[in-house]
Amino acid sequence: MLELAHYINGGDVKGTSGRFGDVFNPATGEVQARVPLASAAEIDAVVADAAKAQVAWGATNPQKRARVMMAMVGLLNRDMDKLAEALSREHGKTIPDAKGDIQRGLEVIEYCIGAPQLLKGEYTDSAGPGIDMYSMKQPLGVVAAIMPFNFPAMMPLWHVGPALACGNSVILKPSERDPSLPHMLGELFHEAGLPAGVFQVVNGDKVAVDALLDNDTIQGVSFVGSTPIAQYIYARATANGKRAQCFGGAKNHMIIMPDADMDQVADALIGSSFGAAGERCMAVSVAVPVGDDTADRMIEKLVPRMEKLRVAPYTDGDDVDFGPVVTREAKERILGLIESGIEQGADLVVDNRDFKLQGYEDGFFVGAHLFDKVTKDMDIYKTEIFGPVLCTVRAQSYEEALGLAMDHEYGNGTAIFTRDGDTARDFASRVNIGMVGINVPIPVPLAYHTFGGWKKSVFGDLNQHGTDSFKFYTRTKTVTARWPSGIKEGGEFNFKSMD
Ligand code: NAD
Repeated sequence: MLELAHYINGGDVKGTSGRFGDVFNPATGEVQARVPLASAAEIDAVVADAAKAQVAWGATNPQKRARVMMAMVGLLNRDMDKLAEALSREHGKTIPDAKGDIQRGLEVIEYCIGAPQLLKGEYTDSAGPGIDMYSMKQPLGVVAAIMPFNFPAMMPLWHVGPALACGNSVILKPSERDPSLPHMLGELFHEAGLPAGVFQVVNGDKVAVDALLDNDTIQGVSFVGSTPIAQYIYARATANGKRAQCFGGAKNHMIIMPDADMDQVADALIGSSFGAAGERCMAVSVAVPVGDDTADRMIEKLVPRMEKLRVAPYTDGDDVDFGPVVTREAKERILGLIESGIEQGADLVVDNRDFKLQGYEDGFFVGAHLFDKVTKDMDIYKTEIFGPVLCTVRAQSYEEALGLAMDHEYGNGTAIFTRDGDTARDFASRVNIGMVGINVPIPVPLAYHTFGGWKKSVFGDLNQHGTDSFKFYTRTKTVTARWPSGIKEGGEFNFKSMD
């Protein structure tokens, strides 16, 4: 059995805890590797090394740090095919999806090349007699990034890139489900010129996470994952005096107005609800057509497209629409929620509960499902299913549709499909959700904007990437300096002395 390693101090390090997790091939259901799960003692040792390495890295000028980011962009592009294959092998998503995962991470590293500009402070000349005032943005020190399985390249890069560019050392604790890609990021950053110890990739489960949260040297914690864990990590990290930003789950509504282009709507739902087997925090999981006629037309367009979806392993080629879900537990959880939807009275319009793929009977495949006549009290509406299941909730008016999105406890993303500018503008302005699409189903902001939800989709104040990440990973220090021998009050600057 292949035994994976941590990436510590610039090299592979075997686990010493004696505890391991299974890494599956989601297409076959077989265990393909085992990943070491770090103990608290291993975590503390790694953090101590990271703290030592941070001193020189934090003092390195921002332009040199930017050059590491520049080199990293080149390496990610160079190894794109190899990285995508490693990612798909453990996650199960298609190769084009895996490349998208890496690409959206790479774009944040490109943004980090602007570190010298982004880290500039402010300066007030002559704030008083002989007094100048200036601010600097200094790294926090050692920070931890605890990341989910669903974007094993993008999510780590969104956090590790800005944290490093700001001069911090980073401990990445990736998901134990697909740890190989994060490990490769450690190797690539090292090749890009990052000194050993500045970026440590340590595998683990709750034991490792708790050790990070309780370690006094760790100054900041970034978390991305499910809402209950996000809430727990935020509470424990902040109680321990750390800065924390924790991003949680989602239930993204797409409102479909009667005037929407229904072909565009059907295409959008196919990609956003079933792409990556629905394992995206920005997946559309609730369609809200306004009016029964709109709902009927939407379903009529959607069903034949759903029947054409090709569900298969990533190795079957680039025309595969989506692959398996990540684990057997995830598959059973999704199928259990589908059963609850039927029991609670929703109409299962597209039913693929008996989906089986020849030759891959033990794989974690779940076919695409469509529910109609879902109501607010049903578990399939309240819960994040995180699988290829779309719920239709029929609304009788725009206000009712808006109210549904606004009353849901999650607030990550939402979209409206309409040809009416007034409605779209009203929606974008009033909805209490962090990311809004207008005729765009998955409105993921680009690297130079910021990404983050509202309500139970986030705990903390600052978003991911963009200017917010440079705020999160630095502390501001403001210096007031007096030089009594400088220009006297009321004196004039002597231009002649500059000749
Ligand atoms: P998860 O919460 O199960 O795990 C995330 C991380 O937390 C992993 O590293 C895991 O090892 C660790 N963890 C799990 N249980 C823990 C515990 N009890 N104590 C301490 N640490 C623990 O999430 P997941 O299944 O890996 O990812 C899917 C979730 O992530 C979905 O809910 C999805 O919506 C969310 N997500 C959110 C965003 C966002 O930006 N809001 C982005 C991507 C994914």
